[in-house]
Amino acid sequence: MKNRFDSFHSYTNSYKIKMRYSQSLIPTLKETPAEAEVVSHRLLLRAGFIRKLSAGVYSYLPLGLAAVRKVEQIVREEMNRAGAQELLMPMVQPADLWRETGRYEKYGPELLRFRDRHDRESCLGPTHEEVITDLARREIRSYRDLPKNLYQIQTKFRDEIRPRFGLMRGREFIMKDAYSFDVDDTQAGVAYQRMYEAYQRIFSRCGLEFRAVDADTGTIGGNFSHEFMVLADTGEDTLVICSSCDYASNIEKAAIAASDADESPLLELEKVETPGKRKVAAVCDFMEIKPSELVKTLVFLADGNPVAVLVRGDREVQAVKLKNLLGAVEVEMADDKQVYEATGVPTGYLGPVNIKIKLLVDQEVAGMKNFVIGANEKNYHLKNVNMGRDFEPSAVADLRQITRDDPCPICGAGLGLKEGIEVGHIFKLGTGYSQAMEAFFQDSDGQEKPMVMGCYGIGVSRIVAAAIEQNHDDNGMIFPMPLAPMQVILLNLGISDEHITATAESLYQELLNKGVEILLDDRDERPGSKFKDADLLGIPLRITVGKRLTKDGVVELRQRRDGTTEELTPEQVSARVLDLIAAKMISE
Ligand code: ATP
Ligand code: MG
Repeated sequence: MKNRFDSFHSYTNSYKIKMRYSQSLIPTLKETPAEAEVVSHRLLLRAGFIRKLSAGVYSYLPLGLAAVRKVEQIVREEMNRAGAQELLMPMVQPADLWRETGRYEKYGPELLRFRDRHDRESCLGPTHEEVITDLARREIRSYRDLPKNLYQIQTKFRDEIRPRFGLMRGREFIMKDAYSFDVDDTQAGVAYQRMYEAYQRIFSRCGLEFRAVDADTGTIGGNFSHEFMVLADTGEDTLVICSSCDYASNIEKAAIAASDADESPLLELEKVETPGKRKVAAVCDFMEIKPSELVKTLVFLADGNPVAVLVRGDREVQAVKLKNLLGAVEVEMADDKQVYEATGVPTGYLGPVNIKIKLLVDQEVAGMKNFVIGANEKNYHLKNVNMGRDFEPSAVADLRQITRDDPCPICGAGLGLKEGIEVGHIFKLGTGYSQAMEAFFQDSDGQEKPMVMGCYGIGVSRIVAAAIEQNHDDNGMIFPMPLAPMQVILLNLGISDEHITATAESLYQELLNKGVEILLDDRDERPGSKFKDADLLGIPLRITVGKRLTKDGVVELRQRRDGTTEELTPEQVSARVLDLIAAKMISE
């Protein structure tokens, strides 16, 4: 079926790239840059794709930009196909717009704020809900103007607390962000589903191994969201995946079902001397108990305010669950000094009985009886402590991190954990922004109603890094064909040999004419270093024109991923190359 958005395709001409190595800026490095901790960062620097300007801020050199453009092209095609329209919004945004939603105060230090020459407060856009909602309230009046889905591909700035891993977590980075506006929840659900499917197509077409998971909604707010995760060991996120049903969630969000409460009778509270025993393991050894019979009291600073959280001795607090419960912008673990300042108790001996700060209890602890916990006194713990009798919490909630030993919250089967890189995030926003900013429309019944919104992000520059994390070997990157900055690298190994050079040049022209994206290595370099650079750059197909041409009339065609090599006459090359490219381009 022809859809009415087909016409958008025509202006997105595909981005064809050709280069002569001798004239290009491809500053490859032999040494591994010391500052790079993950493989994509190392290889992007070594292959001359990016250069750092300042922390988390990079220039994209020609090959790096070519890879970014490949991602953008796929994203554009699929967004257009899904009925979204491209626009471009300003990067510099007035603070007053952000005040309307309360986010100027709430967003925290990631929002870079400054004043212009007229002393007007401004910020650099980390995301564009405010700007797009402002546009919508001015331009969209009636249900007849809806639905709308608008997107842009643009540089974002977030003053990240820990910029690292090169393009993976920059302060300046390229994002695709889309925003949908609908008349009601049902229609907004349709828009969300359409974006979910577009995202599936985008990441499949990029040639990435990925998974969509249930996600936390963070500062953006709203009540429904999925993250798209590229599976890779270096991922900063952990995914929880059910071995049986299709449940998959970010660990930050994975809910834990309440377990049965222990019904044992309450024993008498005892104070036990535990000299120098501060750590869970030391206390357990000393008292001959298991970590699951002890409860830890951990102190966090939520936007600077101390709060104590009780979890079982062998569990971890999930900071995002805590942050959401408290409605805080930033939550961090307090250090020893901060714990002492807040409670008057040295770390290791803290407990809930007569504690001086706000006390939250993980639901699992609420079901425990007669546990061991700090006595709020140096060198002492309490035994047979019970909630309700010995202390009262401010709240009980699901605050701990799920483990691989917990049952699936949906079907009860076993869980697996995997590392992932978040490359996309979609949210149902509801009417939070449209209500705060009065983005109303007149419905068919004549009533004024707030537009129902959704927002949809893709980390365009992060995808390039994620693709490399998933596709590399000891010699360099191995680009999936759809994201490769070019499809073919052609090595001329006989610069001063007329026949070799003439053949290489004519193959270059022929392939260019057939629409192949190609890098001709016409440098006066030794074969060894040309081979090394070709491997490092990760270009999927390599053609070598060298001595075998003079001797046997053949050139070599090699696939970067598995090293498959074929010998072909120059006449056979272009047909074979086109076949291989077609086979490796993923169209849904
Ligand atoms: P993260 O949890 O990694 O900080 P986020 O939830 O803040 O991501 P969103 O606000 O949903 O991210 O932004 C949309 C997309 O932009 C993300 O899915 C991610 O791919 C990308 N992105 C976010 N922050 C960065 C960054 N600092 N550098 C590169 N890409 C980023
Ligand atoms: Mg973030």
